[in-house]
Amino acid sequence: MPELPEVESVRQCLVNSRPSLLGRVVQQVQVLRDNVVAGDLNQLGCVLTGARCDQIQRHGKYLFFGFSLNHQADQIWLTVHLRMTGRLHLVPSLATLPRHARLMLHLDQELALRFDDPRGFGRVWVVDDPAAVTAGLGPDALLLDRDEFLERLKGVKRQLKPLLLDQSFVAGIGNIYADETLFQARLHPERRSDSLAADEKERLYAALHQVITQAVDLKGANIDGVFEAGRFPVAVYGRQRLSCQVCGELIIKIRVGQRGTHFCPVCQYC
Ligand SMILES: [Zn+2]
Repeated sequence: MPELPEVESVRQCLVNSRPSLLGRVVQQVQVLRDNVVAGDLNQLGCVLTGARCDQIQRHGKYLFFGFSLNHQADQIWLTVHLRMTGRLHLVPSLATLPRHARLMLHLDQELALRFDDPRGFGRVWVVDDPAAVTAGLGPDALLLDRDEFLERLKGVKRQLKPLLLDQSFVAGIGNIYADETLFQARLHPERRSDSLAADEKERLYAALHQVITQAVDLKGANIDGVFEAGRFPVAVYGRQRLSCQVCGELIIKIRVGQRGTHFCPVCQYC
């Protein structure tokens, strides 16, 4: 499942490709599976046709594509959540459609933005303002600074694993980077946030910042061959029954808050 680093990698790819998605004008919206659109199908086509993509923003795991019509100042925002297996590709508009293609935005310069999604949980919709979506989210994990993190921890009484996964606490962390963060911080995933000493809170922030920053630099993690470009080296996620790279003990997998959780019972003893 794409988390912040993988979604940021998708964003950068669409911005930096030559030609870029930025500046492209939508000529036609082709919905291949109706349920990919959350909301009104016809509205999507009406508001996007003829509009130019001016910016691509991200908050947590959400992507926001800012479109404007005829150089007007007002923008409308195509919001995309990739969920489990969604991917976005900038492709030649006449390229063969894969079986799991859900949506095509046909663009100028004979290009198309194509949304593929084998599992089919990903969704797109249009909003007037990204704040309509981000209001319910915590700060973006990549931009979160130490003081804000420590402030947000105050008064929170939760196990660390579910807390890191809670998008209203901090946005962008999923199962991979929650497990990697807790390993780097040497903290047990079932530890309660209100039991942390000051130095452990500092360690947790430092680990979160380091893991997310490094993962963004390395274009995310390539788990199950889904994000081929990702080079982030996981230390515990998916490595149950393999040796811990620090102490040699076997990594174990348990369930915490209904989520598979990987950790080292020696390095993360409490
Ligand atoms: Zn270990």
